[in-house]
Amino acid sequence: MKVRRIAVAGFQHETNTFAPGRTGFDAFEMADSWPPLLRGAAVIGETRGMNLPVAGAIAEAERRGGIEIVPILWCAAEPGGVVTDAAFDRISGEIIDGLRRAGPLDGLCLDLHGAMVTESHEDGEGALLGIVRAALGTALPVAVSLDLHANLSQALVSRADVITIYRSYPHLDMAETGARAMAALLDRLDGVVRHAAFRQAPFLVPLHAQSTDDGPCRALYRLLEDLPKAAGEYAELAMGFTAADIADCGPSVLAYGATPARASAMAEAVLARLCASESGFDTTLVPPRQAVRQAMHSRAPGPVVLADVQDNPGAGGTSDTTGLLQALIDEGAQGALLGVLCDPELARQAHGAGTGAVLTGRIGAAAGLPGTQPVAGRFRVLALSDGRIAYGGAMYGGGVASLGPSCLLAFEGPGAGIRVVVSSVRIQCLDRALFTHFGADPAAARIVCVKSTLHFRADFAPLASAVIYVDAPGAFPCRLEGLRYRRLRPGVRLGPGGRAQGSS
Ligand SMILES: [Zn+2]
Repeated sequence: MKVRRIAVAGFQHETNTFAPGRTGFDAFEMADSWPPLLRGAAVIGETRGMNLPVAGAIAEAERRGGIEIVPILWCAAEPGGVVTDAAFDRISGEIIDGLRRAGPLDGLCLDLHGAMVTESHEDGEGALLGIVRAALGTALPVAVSLDLHANLSQALVSRADVITIYRSYPHLDMAETGARAMAALLDRLDGVVRHAAFRQAPFLVPLHAQSTDDGPCRALYRLLEDLPKAAGEYAELAMGFTAADIADCGPSVLAYGATPARASAMAEAVLARLCASESGFDTTLVPPRQAVRQAMHSRAPGPVVLADVQDNPGAGGTSDTTGLLQALIDEGAQGALLGVLCDPELARQAHGAGTGAVLTGRIGAAAGLPGTQPVAGRFRVLALSDGRIAYGGAMYGGGVASLGPSCLLAFEGPGAGIRVVVSSVRIQCLDRALFTHFGADPAAARIVCVKSTLHFRADFAPLASAVIYVDAPGAFPCRLEGLRYRRLRPGVRLGPGGRAQGSS
């Protein structure tokens, strides 16, 4: 049997166009929740066993046999502001150079996000595929895996042969989705040709209402499995990333059928169910002090988890706002644990002072997000770390977080009873290890505050007596009607049951 040569590459970014600052090449180069930029054989060696699409795609090829993987480049940056042209051009240029140098290829498998916006392209992935096609032609079969939060475009659908999308939020199936992309690519090489149908939904859905564990998304993703389909046919649903002021923002459905009519019928069925589910999305957010009071009055066993959904660094938040922290102080909360607050200067001071020392100063608002204030206080240094923390939860288990110099601080005086994990790098609080590494056990806390929108659920919901989504300030607004969108396609409504921009 002829050995097939398949190139793999990855370039992931979820761009929050409302977030301050730009995302440059250095953000892709550095390790954060995921590995640093990888080239050549390191793409295979440094991702093996991880819950990453590229790892799943490679594992699937190895499982099948008869395939030579040609690893090109893989990189991802923590979600944040618009990607600079310099970063996009450099990374896409390296991918193209690598593909050209690779020699004859039978196919290409790409690990992308689907919500990248650059200074010049509001559809970053569509632009990347355009560059790939211009360099390598339209004959090379290309499979793409995308995040559930992709803001999918017709351009990307047209330029890729096949696309697969995560089906769980929290994203427990990233490697599985990469494996599906590889399998779909191999089907394509075996001569299976499928027709695509693409539909966009008429309303946006805030991310805290997108859990696939309950509510409408649970039923919608089950429908993808249950939909009548022939071998090789499948449908995908992207829930979209709301903090993107672009025409393609929002949920979309993609179906691949043996005929155009079958693809359309599948896409229409999923879209119809999504639209029929509109009133079922629970978008409730609770004001911070009310949320803290509810948590303090809870008598159920296990901590109450307060999700600081709008300051999630995994969606472009600065991970340093203090609205929820101030509410804990104002209400006199006891047994409260908060993470991960990014304040490099405070982490530096803690490392300088040493364990047991008491610092007097300010915490938070380090990034200067307008409207955020630091909190003054006295903080005892309970633990210090270089910030290399092995994840243990289902989503990132097997990987390593890189928080940079970091520490656990306990408030003294006003705020006594509150402990905070402070980092030098923005990392989403989605794994208990981000607390337990410092000797703080979230299971033993009364209140656990996480800077995360929904991914925290995989590791924290099992120990929580209740979860409350909190309406504290941040760079990832979940109240969509307050956002100043300018570039959405006409008529799309700002949330389930919401109004379209410009209408009254
Ligand atoms: Zn996502």
